[in-house]
Order: sequence, then structure tokens, then C-alpha cells
Amino acid sequence: MIRQAIVFPFREDLLCRLRGLAVVPRVQSLENIGDVLNPIYHAGANTRCVLVESEVPLTSAGLHQGLAGIPVALAVPRLGPLSDFFRLLPVLRQLSIRVFLPIGVEGNLTTLRILSSLGIGTTIVLDGKEPDWDGLADLMTYAFFGQVPHASIDPFNYLGDNFDPGSRNEFEAVYFDDPRAYLHLDPEGRVALTRDALKRGDFLAGDLESIRNGIEGLEAFRSRMSAWSDHFLALDACSTCPGWRVCSGRFARHRQPDDNCRGFCAELLDNLEQYRATRRQPVTSWQP
Ligand code: SF4
Repeated sequence: MIRQAIVFPFREDLLCRLRGLAVVPRVQSLENIGDVLNPIYHAGANTRCVLVESEVPLTSAGLHQGLAGIPVALAVPRLGPLSDFFRLLPVLRQLSIRVFLPIGVEGNLTTLRILSSLGIGTTIVLDGKEPDWDGLADLMTYAFFGQVPHASIDPFNYLGDNFDPGSRNEFEAVYFDDPRAYLHLDPEGRVALTRDALKRGDFLAGDLESIRNGIEGLEAFRSRMSAWSDHFLALDACSTCPGWRVCSGRFARHRQPDDNCRGFCAELLDNLEQYRATRRQPVTSWQP
């Protein structure tokens, strides 16, 4: 049995393979979203959320009230004009939306903070560019310890909610990239374990039918789930990193590991310990 939700580029000819499964249709635009959701419903699949990979700013992404109640993961390159954003805000607040923003684009760290302060959930996207480490650390502090109510900024708050101090802590699920939670289809219905594997054309199976009994027993899955241990075989910089338990080499995928990522992830780990302590052992004053 397939337990994962299936992320797939929306095509009607794929729907007959998805009956009974949780699905995440990938689209480029929110226009005519009914033409995506209705066929999925009639095919007997269950939409977990809609993943929109838009190339236009958030203010031009076609958000409207008709999307209320539909979970949307909206990846955009930037916010767009502030005046347009504030006009859109009443609509945005009615939606079940999470905004994904690349942190390599100037101004996006500030945008992430603004959106969160206005009650809109966000996720930072590591886009391969060298992060502004100080700005990212400020955003992390705000995510964990900001005094005013604000929406979550992932992966920080995801890690905060799921942190286990005695284990490695993974957060790839926030990017639909954990094979325990998501699998990916290409337009021909071939199955990949991760988004990177999909891009590389590295397929686990030619179709979903051939993995109907699940993937947990397959060598490719087991090998992907233990890939983190390769850092220790190679004894590279990650294997001695103080922030290993919250990174597992994630920052080394698109750049050389260095003191910047080591320092950042060590601080992340400290913040998680502190966040956990303050959340689970709230200080309460004596009451008569
Ligand atoms: S923070 Fe850098 S050095 Fe540490 S585990 Fe991550 S990528 Fe490796």
C-alpha cells in the first residue's frame, strides 16, 4: 500500500492512476483551479493541497476568495508592489495558504517577516544562492521568540514543533521532499523519491502500479533514508559539525560547508533547545 501523498504535474491522463491516493497537484497558476480540483475529485483521489509554482510575484498570482478552504502552497519569487499587497491582504487572510519565498532574492527576508506578522504562514526556500546569514539568523530569532503573535516561518517552526534533542531532526517534509511523506511523478507517471531525483531523471519505478505494495522494503528507499551517513564515511566537514542534528548536510547540497553554515546551524540548535524548554516548561507565577 502506498502511504505517501503523490506530487504530480497536473495532467488529466495521470488521474486514472491516482484513485484512492492522497495527491498534491503541481500547477503554475491558480487560474481555473476548479478545472484541476474537480477532475481529481471525480477520479477518486484526495487533494492534500495544491502546489503552485508561480513565476510571477505574489500580488499577481491570481489569489481570490474562491480559494477559501483549499490548502495552497504558493511558491513565488517575490512579493510584488506593497500597495497591491495591502489591497490583497483581506483576501489573503481568508485563505489557507503558505507562501514559499527564495531567500536569495533581495528583500525576501523582510517579506517573510511581514507576512508572518500579518498571520500568513511562510516557508523559506534555500535557492542555492549564498544566504545573508545575519538576516537569516534574525528571522530565525523572530520565528522562535518574536513577542507579538505571528504565523509560522518554516522550517524553523516546523523544527520547533517536532524537535527531538536526542536524534537527527529532518525538515524536508516542508518542501514536499521527504520520501516517507511524498513521492513525485513526472508527466509520464514515472515515480521518483525526491524532487532532485525527479529533476535528474532518477526514477524509482516506471509507474505507481509497480510499487502498489509500498516502497519501504525497496533497496532504493532504504539507501535514500541512510544517505546522511555518507558524510561520516567520507569524514567531511559535516561529520564534525555542531549543528549536524538539525542540518544533516542540507546546506552542503548547493555550496561548500563552511563556518557560516556551521555557526548558523549551531545557533539553530541552541534556539531549538531554548524554544523547547520555554514551551514545555512555562514559567508560572504563584497564585493564591
Ligand atoms: S551546517 Fe554546514 S557543515 Fe554543518 S552539517 Fe550543515 S552543511 Fe554540514
